[in-house]
Amino acid sequence: MYWDEVRIFFGVAGFLFGITFGSFLNVLVWRLPRGESIVFPGSHCPRCNAPIHWYDNIPLLSYALLLGRCRACGERISPRYPLVELVSGLFLGAYILRFRWDVGLVYYAFTAALLVVTLIDLEHKIIPDVISLPGIPLMLLANMFVVAPYWPIGLIDGGIGILLGGGALLAVALGYYLLTHREGMGLGDPKLMAMIGALCGWKGVVFTMLVSSFTGTIVGVIYVVAAGKDRRFPIPFGPFLSLGAVAYLWVGQAAIRWYLGS
Ligand SMILES: [Zn+2]
Repeated sequence: MYWDEVRIFFGVAGFLFGITFGSFLNVLVWRLPRGESIVFPGSHCPRCNAPIHWYDNIPLLSYALLLGRCRACGERISPRYPLVELVSGLFLGAYILRFRWDVGLVYYAFTAALLVVTLIDLEHKIIPDVISLPGIPLMLLANMFVVAPYWPIGLIDGGIGILLGGGALLAVALGYYLLTHREGMGLGDPKLMAMIGALCGWKGVVFTMLVSSFTGTIVGVIYVVAAGKDRRFPIPFGPFLSLGAVAYLWVGQAAIRWYLGS
């Protein structure tokens, strides 16, 4: 009973920290692709430039109280802001409840990075190097020193994950370019896949590739049928890689056991 109450307390605390970090993730999603500093200046309305006071910048709450509008000019604020805060809070709370707390924090950091990548890739069709490149060594270290005792992946498996994940998507990108002389897949995707491999190991890479190509194909077909768009319209792949990697953290082990029939 006592243990349950402690867990619930940490889950709720994780949710509250998560929505606060979510505000920062919103700042990254806006500023990273625009090359703006992530520290200065403080938050301001993108339309009227009025600074946003701390009491109007409380995660979830302020958006509801202001009915989704800027206090100064009344400009509608995208519901993406509270949604990112909410999703961030739910993930951190859920990871803390599901995994050991330190493993949960690593998984949250990984998921938060993928959430930022997903939103930037959807809007700008780029995956910022400033997330994926440092993410490769950071996730490998976190894998070796935090996750490994809990989920035996470690240095060798993580290293193979980096080479396999980055190499496979690099081969796809190169092959597509050589065949069509068009850039179908940027180099952002191989770097992101290397970061995923650093944490998830080679099995995670295989799982992520299967899930992302399956879901990506379905969404791509629906998109082409519904919108009648040119088949070559570049659909960003980062969101699908992110989906596959996060799914691996939650159900990967169970899926592999089921597949191997043990
Ligand atoms: Zn404004």
